[in-house]
Amino acid sequence: MSPDLSSLLYLIASVCFIMALKGLSSPESARGGNLFGIVGMVIAVVTTLWLSHLGWPLVVTAMLVGGAIGTFISVRLQMTSLPQLIAAFHSLVGLAAVLVAGAALFKPEVFQIAEGSGIKVSSIVEMSVGTAIGAITFTGSIIAFAKLQGIMKGDPITFKGQHLLNLLLLLGIVALVAWFAMVGSADAIAAQKIFILVALASFILGFTLIIPIGGADMPVVISMLNSYSGWAACGIGFTLNNPLLIITGALVGSSGAILSYVMCKAMNRSLFNVILGGFGGGAAAASGPAAEKKPVKIGSAEDAAFILKNASSVVIVPGYGMAVAQAQHVVRELADTLKKEGVGVRYAIHPVAGRMPGHMNVLLAEANVPYEDVVELDEINRDFAQTDVAYIIGANDITNPSAKDDPKSPIFGMPVLDVEKAKTVFFVKRSMASGYAGIDNPLFYRDNTMMLLGDAKKVTEELVKAMSGGGH
Ligand code: NDP
Repeated sequence: MSPDLSSLLYLIASVCFIMALKGLSSPESARGGNLFGIVGMVIAVVTTLWLSHLGWPLVVTAMLVGGAIGTFISVRLQMTSLPQLIAAFHSLVGLAAVLVAGAALFKPEVFQIAEGSGIKVSSIVEMSVGTAIGAITFTGSIIAFAKLQGIMKGDPITFKGQHLLNLLLLLGIVALVAWFAMVGSADAIAAQKIFILVALASFILGFTLIIPIGGADMPVVISMLNSYSGWAACGIGFTLNNPLLIITGALVGSSGAILSYVMCKAMNRSLFNVILGGFGGGAAAASGPAAEKKPVKIGSAEDAAFILKNASSVVIVPGYGMAVAQAQHVVRELADTLKKEGVGVRYAIHPVAGRMPGHMNVLLAEANVPYEDVVELDEINRDFAQTDVAYIIGANDITNPSAKDDPKSPIFGMPVLDVEKAKTVFFVKRSMASGYAGIDNPLFYRDNTMMLLGDAKKVTEELVKAMSGGGH
C-alpha cells in the first residue's frame, strides 16, 4: 500500500471517529455514532495490518487471544462493574504506551528514528512524554481498579509530605527527560538506562497521585485517567510517526479532559483539588450505631400504592441500586401504571448517579423510557417543591442534603437532588446502609420520608401489583 493511500485511509478513519463522538453526544444519535466508530475502527485496523511488518500469523494470533479474553470478560461482566473494567483497560493503554516506547528505544532502526549511534532528539522528547504519561496511567488505573473493585479501601490514603513528594517526583521526571534528550542522541546505552529511570519514577508518581483520592471523587479520576491514556497514545503516535494514533489519542485525551471538567462542575469540585487528592470518604464513620437509634418510618407496598394513586405528580430518582436490582423495566411499568391513573411522571437524573457517567440514561433507554420524561438535575430541582412524591429507587448519595449543609461532609459542595422538598419521599433500598461515599443520609429520618425496605425490583413489582389490584 502506498503511503498516500494509507494516509488517506487513516484520515477517513479519523473523520469517522469524530463523527462517532458527535453521535454519542445524544441518546437519539448514539446508535449512528457507534456505527461510525465501528466503521472507523475497521478501516484503521485493516490499514494497520496491511502496513504491518510483523506478518499476518503473529498479528492474527494476538488478535484471537486478545479477542477471546475480551469476550470472556464481557460475557461474565455485570453492568455495575463497568467502571473498574474501564479503569483496567486504561491501565493496559498506559502500559502499551510504555512498551511501545521501550521497543522504539531498543530497536530505533525498525521505527526509523535512529540518528548516528543514538536517536533523534525530537523522538526522545516525544517518547519520554508518552512513557511518563503512560506509566502514570498504568499504576494510577490499577489503584483506581483496586478501589472500585473493593480490593483496596475507598478511603483516601494520605501521609505527611505527600504533595511535596509528588512535586519532587514530577520535577525529577522533567530533569530525567532533559538528561535523556541531551545524552540519548549520542549514547544509546546511557539513553536506555535513563529511559528505565523515567518509567520507574512515573510508575511511582501514578501510585502516589491516586492513593489519596477518596471514593467520592473516583468518577472524576476514571475520566481523568481516560484522558491521560489518550495523551500517552498521542505522544507515542508522534514517535511512530502514525497520524491516526496522534488524532485518536488527541480525541480521547481532550474528550476525557472535557468530561473530567463537566463532572467536576457536577460535583462542585475544582479539577486541581481532585488531582491533588485527599478528598472524599473522610467522614465515612458518620454512619453507624448513632444512625440506627433515630426513629424511622417504614412502610409497605400497599401504603405506598395508596399515596401514589392519590398523587398528581411523581418524580422517580434512580440510582446505583436500581442498576444492581435491574429494576429499570419494572420502574417503567410503574410509571406507565401511574400515567394511566392520570399521574404526571418524570425521571430525575443526577450526573454521577450509579457508577459511571450516563449510567442511569443507559438503563432508562434500555427500558424504553421516553427521552422527554428524563430531566437533568438543574431543571428538576426547580420542580421538587411542586412534586407530590419523590420515588427514590436505589439512590442515596445523590440526594444527601449534607452536601448542602454540612461542611465536614466528604460530599460537601456536590450539587444534589432536592428531593426533601417533595410532599412525600419514598426510599426504596434494602437496609439503612450508606451509599458509595459511606455516609449516613439524614433524609431517612425526616417526617415526610417513608422507607420501603427491600430489593428495588421486588418492592416495585409489589407496588405495581398493589396499584393494579385497585384495592384502595
Ligand atoms: P449510592 O451508592 O449512594 O447508593 C446506592 C444505594 O442503593 C445504596 O445505599 C444501597 O442501599 C442501595 N442498593 C444497592 N443494591 C440494591 C438493591 N438490590 N435494591 C435496592 N437498593 C439497593 O448511589 P447513588 O446512585 O445515589 O450515587 C452514586 C455514588 O457513586 C456517588 O457517591 C458517586 O460519586 C459514586 N460514583 C459514581 C460514579 C459515576 O460515574 N456515576 C463512578 C464511581 C462512583 P442498601 O445497601 O441499603 O440496599
